Amino acid sequence: MIAEMTAAVLYGKEDLRLERVPIPRAGSGELVVKVGAALTCGTDLKVYRRGYHAMMLKPPIPFGHELAGIVSEVGNGVTGFRLGERVVALNSAPCDKCYFCGKGQQNLCEDLLFNNGAYADFIRIPARIVEKNTLHVPTGVLLEHAALTEPLACVVRGFEESGGRAGDTMIVIGAGPIGLMFMHVAELAGLNVIAVVKREDQIATSKLFGASVVVQTETVEDVVSAVRALTPESRGADVVIEAVATPATWEWAVDMVRKGGVVNFFGGPPSGTKVALDTNRLHYGDITLKASFHHTPATCRTAFDLITNGRFKCAEYITGRAELKEVPEIFSRMLQRSGGSREIKTAVFPSGVPR
Ligand SMILES: [Zn+2]
Ligand SMILES: [Zn+2]
Repeated sequence: MIAEMTAAVLYGKEDLRLERVPIPRAGSGELVVKVGAALTCGTDLKVYRRGYHAMMLKPPIPFGHELAGIVSEVGNGVTGFRLGERVVALNSAPCDKCYFCGKGQQNLCEDLLFNNGAYADFIRIPARIVEKNTLHVPTGVLLEHAALTEPLACVVRGFEESGGRAGDTMIVIGAGPIGLMFMHVAELAGLNVIAVVKREDQIATSKLFGASVVVQTETVEDVVSAVRALTPESRGADVVIEAVATPATWEWAVDMVRKGGVVNFFGGPPSGTKVALDTNRLHYGDITLKASFHHTPATCRTAFDLITNGRFKCAEYITGRAELKEVPEIFSRMLQRSGGSREIKTAVFPSGVPR
């Protein structure tokens, strides 16, 4: 008889089911990890709503990608990990052979290997991820905190690419998990952060994660001028991060940056979306437009260090705790409340919610 486990499988648009499936086995170079904690993520919600992800998955597919756990099987030839060790396994690993990897842009690897299936009792970690993007979690660091490594690694990369330095002013548009992480990373790096948020409850959360001042969009007539007025001499911010993923907020971002500044379009709207930008402003303002996607092994390690050195407010990101059987319900709830929920991330504990 094959041992079975429970796993959340995405069948398509808003169709997430709990299933009994065989517990995966570790092939050569692979690990099987008993999931200690898996975190919900805006990307998961997007995939759930759209029923697919351009890069990561086509249904039916095991769901969830932010996890940490305990090594429960070690494949042949694995030397870096032993049974019972606590690890965080990232959701992808690059080939390190293609053109993009050679340029240090492993996030754009032509053969980026993705792994999904965090909402399950166990998950198989492919050899390449074991080798390149699996890290030992130090004693004293909770698994649910270590699981924040993946989203934070994307944010760290976006932050590094944007070139903000201590003393700079950074505007962050959007106060979802990613926007909040940008605020926090920027504040820890000594930047002055201005947050642009939609809902009233996001004001306090943004301040908690380091925003010095917050503009709630619905309370001002002209968002762009209200925000610019908060920057030194109203010249605009040195760096603007867009973390909402709508054409309107992409356009705001360009209107909020100073001459010579950097805009990072971090939020990815649906394919086919177009935006209107003022070419004069871009050209004569010498504005740099960037868009960041995903993470690299280096930013995964930087993010992991931030989490494990105790400076990062991990606990504050986890606003919900749930069992594996609640996962389909959590997503239908997230969808209904989309844009209206105070929740940042829910930690799913397949072995039961710790007391
Ligand atoms: Zn994620
Ligand atoms: Zn590559």
